[in-house]
Amino acid sequence: MNDVDKKFVCENCNLSSSYTFFGKRPPFARSIVLLEEAYVLRDPFSEDGGILVLGGHCSVCSTPICRAQDCSLFYSKRFCVRCVLQNMEEFPAEIQQEVTSRQLKNKCQ
Ligand SMILES: [Zn+2]
Ligand SMILES: [Zn+2]
Repeated sequence: MNDVDKKFVCENCNLSSSYTFFGKRPPFARSIVLLEEAYVLRDPFSEDGGILVLGGHCSVCSTPICRAQDCSLFYSKRFCVRCVLQNMEEFPAEIQQEVTSRQLKNKCQ
């Protein structure tokens, strides 16, 4: 059982968790096709093949990044927060606003 050794670590927040599958179509949840190649954990509390998505890779810099709000953004592809900030003008205004308000919140802590 090497499955236990597979670890996903988020580059931004250092969240680490084991995962059961990386890709778009988890074999244990056949009805599910993900929008991105993602690190997936089989939901231990689900009996009908539920999954938990831990995160994926940033489509710009390929960094492994979790799906927490502070770490990444999914806008047709996944972007890590660093790449979002660096390419801010490529995103629509509502995304820019959202990211900016998150950054401000972080600074106040
Ligand atoms: Zn993270
Ligand atoms: Zn990135």
